[in-house]
Amino acid sequence: MNKNAFRNISYGLYVLSSWDNTSPTGCTINSVMQITSEPATIAISVNHNNFTNSCIDKSGKFAISVLSVNSDPSIIGTFGFKSGKDVNKFESVKYDNIQGMPVLKDCCAYIICEVINKMETDTHTVFLGKVVDADILSDGEPMTYAYYHKVIKGKSPQNAPTYIANEGKENMNKGKYVCSVCGYVYDGEIPFENLPDDYKCPVCGAPKSAFVKQQ
Ligand code: FE
Repeated sequence: MNKNAFRNISYGLYVLSSWDNTSPTGCTINSVMQITSEPATIAISVNHNNFTNSCIDKSGKFAISVLSVNSDPSIIGTFGFKSGKDVNKFESVKYDNIQGMPVLKDCCAYIICEVINKMETDTHTVFLGKVVDADILSDGEPMTYAYYHKVIKGKSPQNAPTYIANEGKENMNKGKYVCSVCGYVYDGEIPFENLPDDYKCPVCGAPKSAFVKQQ
């Protein structure tokens, strides 16, 4: 089976959020799908290991912030490569409280849902949500997963349904510096060695020392 075929399925990039009691929490997801128009329902897929999964289960509500190509790519790293168990991810981003749900300011649209059903798979929970509110926040073009891979050169974290093992370790990256946290491949004009010491991964914010030269 050639799992690269799955790369031909179109996805977006979203920050899924909910509440951990009184603290907002969230994670990056790419699997969001509109199921019906009337009443509007949305399905999402969230890994069992994502802290946000249990928070949605408890609160019965979730919000989707739709990232645009203008959104700061570090949002993807903050929400995709760190755990809400360890850090308050919302401390480093600006957000609004809409209908009682945390929604990122730096996104192009939001959708707020109440959980009406769920289905368990081996690794992920599929939540079905009834949309209770949605709106467009900016005219930025929604970021597609293909854009994230091709332009930002980001990878899928292990918890993503689209994760492909050893992605980014192909020969094409030989000699390039790769972020050991998120898999971002440095491809800038300035040689990596000449970057300032305070250089940080643009996707996840890891320090320059976290980059490893591919052999
Ligand atoms: Fe990184």
